[in-house]
Amino acid sequence: MKFPFYDAPNTATIICCHAMNGEEPILFVSHDEDDGMWQFLCGKTHETDDAKLVSLEFVFKLDNSIGALIDMSCGYYAIREKQEDNWMIRKC
Ligand SMILES: [Zn+2]
Repeated sequence: MKFPFYDAPNTATIICCHAMNGEEPILFVSHDEDDGMWQFLCGKTHETDDAKLVSLEFVFKLDNSIGALIDMSCGYYAIREKQEDNWMIRKC
């Protein structure tokens, strides 16, 4: 599948350890206002230690459904209740 993001595939992004290990689905995605950093988190609460740095391509391969968010601007986040749900995009 073609990599759809405007960012480079090796762009550093934050993912929580639960989603990275495949234990939990990605249910929260933010595109930070300050630095344009993407963050991919599951529905659990997180400590600072839970955040891992991976490439955007890694996350896309993990869950292709994040490809629906390529046009989400900085300063917005997306949530969903379950992995099968559509993303709901909100302003931070
Ligand atoms: Zn998590």
